Amino acid sequence: PPGLYIVATPIGNLGDITFRAVETLGACDGVACEDTRVTGKLLKHLGLSKPLWRYDDHAGDKDRSRLVESMRTRAVALVSDAGTPLVSDPGYRLVREAREAGIEITSIPGACAVVVGLTLSGLPNDRFLFAGFIPSKEKARRDLFSELADVPSTLIFYETAPRLVKSLEAIGATLPKRDIAVARELTKLHEECRTGTAEDLIGHYEAHPAKGEIVLLVGPPSAAPPSADDAEALLVEALATLKP
Ligand code: SAM
Repeated sequence: PPGLYIVATPIGNLGDITFRAVETLGACDGVACEDTRVTGKLLKHLGLSKPLWRYDDHAGDKDRSRLVESMRTRAVALVSDAGTPLVSDPGYRLVREAREAGIEITSIPGACAVVVGLTLSGLPNDRFLFAGFIPSKEKARRDLFSELADVPSTLIFYETAPRLVKSLEAIGATLPKRDIAVARELTKLHEECRTGTAEDLIGHYEAHPAKGEIVLLVGPPSAAPPSADDAEALLVEALATLKP
């Protein structure tokens, strides 16, 4: 049926495409994608051939409106180069406009590097905050980490290999004593998840420069000692449970 289909694709290992994603890509009338070469290769691998329409968030309003209009009569799949569209990838403006236009929208879930990194890291996952790419400028990077210092959650970032050590240094300075995980080349041949303190990891990656794609995770601050008010409340509670 016509509408917008948000289709997750693999983040490395081509085996990680779902049956539903293949079915949807096979049945759609065309695919909106970031890079027609990348998506062309994936479709070829799946034995499919479809019209490809280049789409990213820099697309003009007119192009976006035309694409949304076409969803009234056509099934349009949206994919990104890898993983789940809209997660540090184009698409939210398209989804918003399609929603406003009353288009039927379906999300076909699949691989997402944030989640793969989190599950491998062994860091607490009851609460996590995904903060996208770490800024490349030193000041912006430190400001971001300082802003997040008191957030009681595991923090997750996307990072590039050449900047990893700089980011670890900034984390060591602004978020001391945290458990850190570097999850690299996920689902691929050289998948690695290395954990430790900022100092451990700086030492390792200075000696063995990182290659490939990276998810950087920082554990939550350790539980703060109870404040005087908390201590009093705990004492009152404890006394109340004492048997006479
Ligand atoms: N939409 C994608 C997703 O669902 O994960 C993310 C797209 S974002 C433009 C690309 C960044 O995601 C990379 O620079 C890297 O930080 C992270 N990433 C993607 N694939 C990865 C992989 N296989 N291993 C580690 N990180 C990956």
